[in-house]
Amino acid sequence: MSAAFPLTRHAALARWHEFLPATPSYAARRNHVEVEHPHVSRLSPALRTRVILEDEIITDTLARHSLPSVEKWLQEVCWRRYWKGWLEMRPQVWRQYRQALRTERQNLSAEQKARLNAIEQGEGGIAVMNHFARELAATGYLHNHARMWFASYWIHVERLPWQLGADFFFRHLLDADPASNTLSWRWVAGLQTRGKTYLVRRSNLERYMAAHLLQDSPGLELLEDDRVSPALLSAPAETSPQPPADFPTQAPRLTTHFGLWLHPDDLCPEVGPLAQLSPSAIAAVTSAPAYAHFQLSRGRIQHFHTALADALTRSGEYFACPTTLEEAPTTAEGLFEWAQREQLRDIVAYAPFVGPIADALPQIRRRLAEIHCHLHLIRRPSDVEVHTLAKSGFFPFWEKARAQVSK
Ligand SMILES: Cc1cc2nc3c(=O)[nH]c(=O)nc-3n(C[C@H](O)[C@H](O)[C@H](O)COP(=O)(O)OP(=O)(O)OC[C@H]3O[C@@H](n4cnc5c(N)ncnc54)[C@H](O)[C@@H]3O)c2cc1C
Repeated sequence: MSAAFPLTRHAALARWHEFLPATPSYAARRNHVEVEHPHVSRLSPALRTRVILEDEIITDTLARHSLPSVEKWLQEVCWRRYWKGWLEMRPQVWRQYRQALRTERQNLSAEQKARLNAIEQGEGGIAVMNHFARELAATGYLHNHARMWFASYWIHVERLPWQLGADFFFRHLLDADPASNTLSWRWVAGLQTRGKTYLVRRSNLERYMAAHLLQDSPGLELLEDDRVSPALLSAPAETSPQPPADFPTQAPRLTTHFGLWLHPDDLCPEVGPLAQLSPSAIAAVTSAPAYAHFQLSRGRIQHFHTALADALTRSGEYFACPTTLEEAPTTAEGLFEWAQREQLRDIVAYAPFVGPIADALPQIRRRLAEIHCHLHLIRRPSDVEVHTLAKSGFFPFWEKARAQVSK
C-alpha cells in the first residue's frame, strides 16, 4: 500500500501507478467522502510541489485509457492548471486577497474572533464541520467535497470573511496553492463566477458522506436545504486578463559555472527543459521567519522539508553536483549567501507562479545584483501553452486544453 499523501517522487509515482487503473471509475466515485479517501488520488501535495508532473499524469493516463473513458479525471487534473493560468493573468487578485486578509483580520469583532478560533479548533456548532477542521489540522488534507462544504459553511452559514477561511486552509493544507485555494474560496463565495455561490446542503452531505461519519452528528439541522442562503459579498471590479509574464521555455546556454535553485513551485528539474543543464551547485532555501509570517502549520513545514530534501537528493544524483539546503531569514538572503560562497554569476530556476515565492523575486534579484549574479527563470513549454487558455471560464478552457492533451 502506498503512502497516504506521498511527498517524495518515488512515493508519488508508486501512488500514481496504484491509482492509474482506477481512473475510468473516478467520475462515478470522486464525490464520495470516506475515511482514508480511497476514491481520489491524494496526489495533490505531490502535484502542487511538482514532485510529479501533470504532464506525466496526462501521458500515462492516455497511454492506458481512451480519452472519453477518463475525461472527468483529466478535467480535474487540468483544473489546477486552469486556476494557475487564470491567476497568472490576474496577479492583482492574489495581492488584493493578501491585503484584504490583513484588513479583515484587524476588523474582526471579539465575538467573531472567538467563534472563528472555535471553528478552527473543531469546536464549532456543527459536528461534521468540526470533524473537517480537525482532519485538516491533523492530516493537512481534506477531500474536495469536504473543502466545498466547509468553505460554504464558513462563508454562508457562519458569515465569516472568506479570506480568513482561505488562510486557515493555506496554513494547513499540504497542497496549499495560491491559485487553487484562493480562487476556489472565491468561487464558493460567489466572486469567481459572479452571482454563482456554492451552498452547503444537508441532503448533499447525506448523499455523499459515508453514513457512519454523519451518525450522531449534532448541528446538521443548521444545514437544512432551505435554511442556508447566500451571503452577498462585494469584491473589487474585475479587470481583463493580462498576458502572463513572459519567460523563456528553454534553458540558457551558460559557459561559466552556474547554480540551480530549487523551490517548492517545481521540484522536478530532472524532467523538462532544465534536465540538459550541467550546474556546478544546487540549492534550496528554507526560512523559519517566512513560515512564521504565513503562520504555516508544523505539518506543512515538514512537508516542504521532506519534498525539498527529496528534490535535492534526486537532483544531486542526476546532475552529479553538490547540493545545499540554506536556512536563512529570507529566500533572497539564502540565495545571496549561497551565490557568494560558490562565486556564482548565474542561477537558473523554474519561474515561480503567482504567490509567495514570486512575490520575493524583486528582492531576490536586487540582492543577487549586488554580487553581479543573474537569475534566469524558465517556464515549462506546456505551462506556457495552457495558461493563456484560461481567459474566461473552465469549460471554454477545457475545450482547447482537451485538444492539446489528445494531440
Ligand atoms: C475551498 C477549496 C480550496 C481548495 N484549495 C486547494 C489548494 O490549496 N490546493 C490544491 O491543490 N487544491 C485545492 N482545492 C482543489 C481540490 O480540492 C484539491 O486539488 C483536491 O481535493 C486534491 O485532492 P486529490 O489529489 O486527492 O484530488 P483528485 O480528485 O485525485 O484529483 C487529482 C488532481 O487533480 C487536481 N484537482 C482535482 N480537483 C481539483 C479542483 N477542484 N481544483 C483544482 N485542482 C483540482 C489536483 O491537482 C488533484 O491532485 C481546493 C478546493 C476547494 C473547494
